[in-house]
Amino acid sequence: EPVDVDKIVVEVLDRTKTPSSAKHIDVASLGPHGLVVYGNENQLVTAVVNLVENAIAYSPESTTVSITTSISAGDETGHEAGYIEIAVADQGIGIEPRDIDRIFERFYRADRARSRATGGTGLGLAIVKHIATNHGGRVDVASTVGVGSTFTLRLPARPAEAAMALPPSVEIGGTP
Ligand code: ATP
Ligand code: MG
Repeated sequence: EPVDVDKIVVEVLDRTKTPSSAKHIDVASLGPHGLVVYGNENQLVTAVVNLVENAIAYSPESTTVSITTSISAGDETGHEAGYIEIAVADQGIGIEPRDIDRIFERFYRADRARSRATGGTGLGLAIVKHIATNHGGRVDVASTVGVGSTFTLRLPARPAEAAMALPPSVEIGGTP
């Protein structure tokens, strides 16, 4: 069903308040209002919460985390539906190139994460990937060690059937 992206962001900010304020990390949200994705609201919130929790966990105190939402229209042939992107960026420890391909595997944790006193289980990103795939989308990462990481969740802006039925010029994801 249609899910309001603003609602996802508000819920994510609420559910990550405790860890973010504990580390004096400001979680900022950027992007247009009124975007809509299709899927399960609880799952989508869980996915973004996982990304923001990671951003907070793998960043030093007093840094900034951003949640940037945007829409990319489909190609001009209308062959591909538009996508909604939800990007979570941090100013954290970053990820070594040799770890990048493995972090979405269950239980995989990079050395520096493993050696942290407050450990996780290594399931968060596997769950995010699972949810993204279930929604016909994907999750990608770009990262530089010592600079930070950006995880981008890419979700279809409309259901697959509707995307095929609609002409390419139709406006998608605008304000209702
Ligand atoms: P869990 O989420 O289950 O509590 P986890 O955070 O270790 O544990 P994932 O969320 O799956 O597990 O992340 C896997 C690994 O990817 C982390 O252990 C860490 O090495 C790396 N990682 C994930 N997000 C970031 C990030 N924003 N910055 C740096 N490293 C990250
Ligand atoms: Mg995690």
